[in-house]
Amino acid sequence: MEGRVSSVQSLGAVDGPGLRYVVFLQGCPLRCKYCHNPETWEKDGGEMRTAEDLCNTILRYRPYFGTQGGATVSGGEPLMQPEFVAELFRLLHENGVHTALDTAGAGDLAKAEDVLLHTDLVLCDVKFPTESGYRENCGGSLAHTLDFLRLTARLQVPVWVRHVVAPGLTDTPASMRAVCDLCAGFPNIEKIEWLPFKNICAEKYKVLGIPFPMDGKPAYSQKHIDLLLQAL
Ligand code: SF4
Repeated sequence: MEGRVSSVQSLGAVDGPGLRYVVFLQGCPLRCKYCHNPETWEKDGGEMRTAEDLCNTILRYRPYFGTQGGATVSGGEPLMQPEFVAELFRLLHENGVHTALDTAGAGDLAKAEDVLLHTDLVLCDVKFPTESGYRENCGGSLAHTLDFLRLTARLQVPVWVRHVVAPGLTDTPASMRAVCDLCAGFPNIEKIEWLPFKNICAEKYKVLGIPFPMDGKPAYSQKHIDLLLQAL
């Protein structure tokens, strides 16, 4: 079983619990205005890897995972390659490695179910709390993400919701409160991670020759997010 891998990070500390080997897969059906990884969009790029080879590479880092860490598959949108992720996670589980799926829930939900059977934790990006905002700023559907979250609830997979707080898009207490309200309906959501918008990806867009819709917008600090949260 082969998949297209955009890049890897051998020891990441921000994509799930503990220290983790993070795999960024190639291909994404969305086009979020604040996307940090435009190099992952095209489904034909990246490097072909087999699930076995990638699993063996990840296992070399197992001593660093400790009791909490493991492997995270991110993107792009990992559910664009569900068979590959399901096989990689199955192999990792055979070797006792904790698996996390960093996804917007985009993709075929029937195939997502196969992935979730081998997923210990979902990091689910809820991009906008309204269908219109989601469509306008990401080119996708909030309803589809909610269907995916219902699937995680049915399968009782724990979820951490992630939400980028971006200037002029999602940086109002009302918008953030609406995200909280959406999440309140899912008993398997353990927490919401509020991610401050960063603009260091602007250079990537220049290199790729793609206009960056958020060019010139200020980066946000965690302190700024904390102040917004206090106003909820
Ligand atoms: S889902 Fe992720 S990779 Fe895809 S466009 Fe949005 S931020 Fe970028």
